[in-house]
Amino acid sequence: MSVYSPQQFKVLCIEDEPEILRDIADELADHGFRVDQAASAELALPCIDKGAPDLIICDMQMPGMNGLQLLEKLRARTDAMAHVPFVFLTAFGDRETAIHGRKAGADDYLVKPVDFDLLIASVESHLRNAAQREAATRNAASLEAAPLVPGYDEMIAFLATQPVGTALAVIKLDNQSELAHRFDASDAKRTNRLILRLARQGHCQAFRLQPHVWLAVMPDAGQNSGSLQTKLEPLVQIRLRDRFSPAASACITHSIVLGQTGSDETPAALIDRMRESARLLQREGGARLLCLEGPELSELRLAGAIRSELVGAIDQGELHVHFQPKVDAGTGLPRSGEVLVRWESPLLGHLSPAMFIPVLESAGLLPHVTDWVLKQTALAQIALVRDGMPARLAVNIGASEFNANLPERIACIFRECGADESLLEVEVTETSVLTDPVAAQAIIQALHARGITVALDDFGTGYSSLSHLQNCTIDTIKIDRSFVTRVAEAGPEQTIVLGIIGIARTLGMETVAEGVELESQRQWLALNACDTLQGYIISRPVRFDEYRAWLRGR
Ligand code: C2E
Ligand code: CA
Ligand code: CA
Repeated sequence: MSVYSPQQFKVLCIEDEPEILRDIADELADHGFRVDQAASAELALPCIDKGAPDLIICDMQMPGMNGLQLLEKLRARTDAMAHVPFVFLTAFGDRETAIHGRKAGADDYLVKPVDFDLLIASVESHLRNAAQREAATRNAASLEAAPLVPGYDEMIAFLATQPVGTALAVIKLDNQSELAHRFDASDAKRTNRLILRLARQGHCQAFRLQPHVWLAVMPDAGQNSGSLQTKLEPLVQIRLRDRFSPAASACITHSIVLGQTGSDETPAALIDRMRESARLLQREGGARLLCLEGPELSELRLAGAIRSELVGAIDQGELHVHFQPKVDAGTGLPRSGEVLVRWESPLLGHLSPAMFIPVLESAGLLPHVTDWVLKQTALAQIALVRDGMPARLAVNIGASEFNANLPERIACIFRECGADESLLEVEVTETSVLTDPVAAQAIIQALHARGITVALDDFGTGYSSLSHLQNCTIDTIKIDRSFVTRVAEAGPEQTIVLGIIGIARTLGMETVAEGVELESQRQWLALNACDTLQGYIISRPVRFDEYRAWLRGR
């Protein structure tokens, strides 16, 4: 890779005053540039024709052809000199000439007496810009030019000779255009070189489908498809250095989709699917290698659909909430209910919150849903209070929303609906509380100040150790279903659950067992001092009217 060096560049200085000409030439030479000198525009012309300067510094006021006329002549040419960077010198206060010069296509102007620091800075900056423009053009030209590897027709012909099960990879360059301006053309061609090297070493046969899309084929794959993956993984990200400031670096990244030929699809159709998937992968951030038939591509597809569908979902009434009771382990009497969101999308079908909540959370869209769920919770609570039924309800709050605004946000919604926030519980995950325990404790206190209690959801699945609990004033621990499922069998789960219940008691916290499905689990938990039970054995999550009917039945 070439690094910027003044020695590469030749600067032509045109100035009729010999002293100024000499000073400028010396200054440039001192900075390492190669310099040509001319005492007039007429004398400069042959030099321009044969010497092809990389930049011209030219006085405007000269006897004979002046700087402006020379510039116009240059810009009218059809060769590379039409674009040569042109910096002109003008007398102090000669605003008219400065404007004319810029209008005629000069890149910059300097006022006499010349400030040499400014002169050098200007020269360097224009040379860099020109070199970058040139690199980008060269780059684009080289990539559009005759393929360095065989193309589509050769590929189809080649695949016709390959057995079913041949491993293929579509390789798509993610960020070509944005990097082409900053990096050397030879770097942008790095992908090509790497793919060709793989091909030369006999690992694969390479075809270029488009300037930035390749197909690698590994003959007699079957057991080799994993090996194609290993070979291609280094291509996902290639580090580059900036040619002008070598300390700076960036990455060329690729979206790579692996596939295998099958007996019921033509190679052309398979490759179309792979290219479509590579485009999808690129849209979702790129810089990854995935298998066409693996779960990740369909997850990406669904994630994209979820994001675009959510916006209308709330307005179209596609979201609703279910309620699942939590009961006293000893008496079986209802204590509260958990509100769980549901999404029935006409396009995507029934979506589990376990699927769409994380997608919305990573896209920053979760607050739309949470605000809506909080409002439904407030309205449900009002109805329950009116009917004289237990009205305590819990909502789930994502880690990204467990922040200092949360207490006020809840208060606002409850105030607007006329509901009582002190009947609310929030369920948060261990990550919410442990990423920044000090901040989390402040939020918990602010919630407590409003009478809102806090439960730690899915306890035992995260990274927290029991000792972390000492430092936070959580009200309730929800023992994760994975422990509850096996709690009636003698085994490590019993020890873990006993440990959790013991610590919670010591710290003055309540325990809820989630996912109780069997009578044996219910009995064991009641016997071992778990406070509250939730699960299918009591009730599945149900719509509000069913929940109310269930409560009425107790
Ligand atoms: P979670 O908070 O742990 O909720 C309990 C999940 O376990 C619910 O799944 C519930 O239907 C299910 N469940 C309850 N009892 C049983 C049982 O006895 N057996 C089995 N196998 N499952 C049981 P769901 O409704 O699919 O929710 C999944 C997760 O989605 C929730 O896990 C929660 O993390 C999240 N979620 C649901 N609604 C919301 C919401 O409104 N906001 C946020 N941020 N997350 C939500
Ligand atoms: Ca929960
Ligand atoms: Ca849970």
